[in-house]
Amino acid sequence: MNKFREEDVYIFNKKRECMSREDMRELQLRRLKKSVKYAYDNVAFYRDLYDKNNVAPEDLKELEDLELFPFITKDDLRKTYPFDLQAALKEDWKEVHSTSGTTGIPTVAAYTQKDLDIWAESTARGLASVGVHKNDIVNVAYGFGLFTGGHGAQYGAQKIGALAVPMSSGNTQRQMNFLKDFPADFLCCTPSYALYLAESFEKEGIDPSSIALRGGLFGAEMWTEEIRNKLESKFGISAQNIYGLTEVIGPGVSVDCHIKEGMHIAEDHFYPEIIDPNTLEVLPEGETGEIVFTSLTKTGMPVIRYRTKDITSLNYEKCECGRTTVRMNRITGRSDDMIKVKGVIVFPKQIEEVIMKMDELAPAYQIVVSRPDTLDEIEVQVEIDQANFKDSITDLEGFRHKIGERIKDAIGISVKVTLAEPYTIPRSEGKAVRVIDKRDFS
Ligand code: ZN
Repeated sequence: MNKFREEDVYIFNKKRECMSREDMRELQLRRLKKSVKYAYDNVAFYRDLYDKNNVAPEDLKELEDLELFPFITKDDLRKTYPFDLQAALKEDWKEVHSTSGTTGIPTVAAYTQKDLDIWAESTARGLASVGVHKNDIVNVAYGFGLFTGGHGAQYGAQKIGALAVPMSSGNTQRQMNFLKDFPADFLCCTPSYALYLAESFEKEGIDPSSIALRGGLFGAEMWTEEIRNKLESKFGISAQNIYGLTEVIGPGVSVDCHIKEGMHIAEDHFYPEIIDPNTLEVLPEGETGEIVFTSLTKTGMPVIRYRTKDITSLNYEKCECGRTTVRMNRITGRSDDMIKVKGVIVFPKQIEEVIMKMDELAPAYQIVVSRPDTLDEIEVQVEIDQANFKDSITDLEGFRHKIGERIKDAIGISVKVTLAEPYTIPRSEGKAVRVIDKRDFS
């Protein structure tokens, strides 16, 4: 049963979200000039970088002149750890967030009150587009703490005047009790955790669509249309994608409207460019490449041309929902997370699409890459969904073969498929770990 109500959705900030393209570009240029100058005047890192590259804030006459300025990367953020990229005076910092640092030194960002306001506005726009109103309850099951997920959704909900329940991630039994007993209208968490919640309800014999939820914003990890379809049919909700990163502000940089044909970027605050990750050239509208963001209004840690490594494309056409802000498509990969196996480039997403399309499989999987002798091997571990598996147990071998063939069709190379016992593949309470690379590259 679908409980989502289209009549509930609205545009939070019509003035900004429905501007003419011309007015938007004018606003962006004005803010860009200010932001670049602010970074140059207040952050030694930018000043040195631009002096070395012979560019200055005054060179910005048109939006396109931004191409004259060098990019910054995660490495630059690490080099300036913890606070050398901060532009605001320390007494104006109001909150600090950080990436997990699982792949090295974490990225730390201090937020001023103005930044927190921009952030709340950005996530509020997203929550409005899934239909959150003043009297609603929003269950926030993203992690709280240094991670930006939880706070971003909470600030947005509170900006609207809704009741935010800061559940945080984990403690699934309590999550389920709360969702039933203190019925939330909306849920914000990672898509993998939402799926796990649905499964956990089913395991207890409760139909997940029988709880009150009508919609949700899901993000903080890469996901596919197949997962969206599963979340929507299991919970009977509208499952909308929210994108963001700590370096830029956190979740809310862009969010799906209910039309779900790309995430509207809050481009009056975050200016996007798409570049070819190899040549670093800016690509024409509509082409797929790495998305780069420049903050236009941030005062704590301004970022000018930050390379996200996320691969997507932009669409400037006016959306059916009435918003005119540019839409970015679903992230299809990261320029640094493709797996290269036997010389073939494989994105985990390609394997995920196959698995999520097969109803006989549970929505959990893991990809293990190893090199047992001299050749790379991919093992895909999947679980049978007992409720949907119709064939008899003796057909397991044939079923395994069928999965292998479908994956081979999708990625072009053979993989080893392993059928795991139900509920043995680890479910994540935060960001899912889908790929384990056991190869030794040292
Ligand atoms: Zn739209």
